[in-house]
Amino acid sequence: MPELEPILYSSSTYLFNHTRTVCEMPDHIDYLAVCAHPDDAELTCAGLLMRAKDSGYSIGVVDLSRGELGSRGSVTDRDAEASAAATVMALDVRYNLELPDGNIVCSRENVIRLVELIRRWRPRMLITSYWEDHHPDHVQTSKIATDAWWFAGVANYPGGGIAHRPERILYYQGRGVFPPSCVVDITSTWERKKSAIACYHSQLHRNTAESEPKTYTSSENFMDLWEGRHRYLGSLIGTEYGEAYHVRTPVPVFDIASLTGGAPGVL
Ligand SMILES: [Zn+2]
Repeated sequence: MPELEPILYSSSTYLFNHTRTVCEMPDHIDYLAVCAHPDDAELTCAGLLMRAKDSGYSIGVVDLSRGELGSRGSVTDRDAEASAAATVMALDVRYNLELPDGNIVCSRENVIRLVELIRRWRPRMLITSYWEDHHPDHVQTSKIATDAWWFAGVANYPGGGIAHRPERILYYQGRGVFPPSCVVDITSTWERKKSAIACYHSQLHRNTAESEPKTYTSSENFMDLWEGRHRYLGSLIGTEYGEAYHVRTPVPVFDIASLTGGAPGVL
């Protein structure tokens, strides 16, 4: 296959069109988020990803679509915003599968494409949308990621490479809520998470954009609401900011002392 130039996000982050030959792909990604639209990772699991990066792990985001149905701004805007946010988050890779926004479906073909990536990068953890969500694309993304997580570890399933199943799959909280299985302290990364979200100028409130369609994220007080949610989640574990996750099996405890990690009176 011919080698084509990747679209550079920054010196260390790339977006590859799926029709292009992959070049300069990383050999391994430790923590991989699979999201429906650019800005989903920033709004949901960016705090966890950046904490992982701060601890020396490699992090990546696979956006399943380019968000071309967005009510505000253009797809070119979203590409540029995703690029800027990738730099803020210091992603080791950002890859876009270019599935159609508004028509993301859990087909065998789409699962295989994600299986290929999982086997290539061999992440230790997959992070994706919780399966109950207001947006059908988020629901389908959860299903695609869950199926790919499983089938990537089945040796005879198509997709090439060597079978690999990430040790853990985490489901992040979108606009909806669920009783969290665990809350990750993201106090140290909250300001960067806020900066990454702010990269999506076209989606957020702008005084000059009053003629554009109004959405939940473009409401004037959206960032205050979003910060309030993270503060609330942090309060559950005695920290300033938190992100909520669901896991389907019990969270293992190997260090008893970790159970007393919250602020006094929280647990
Ligand atoms: Zn989304």
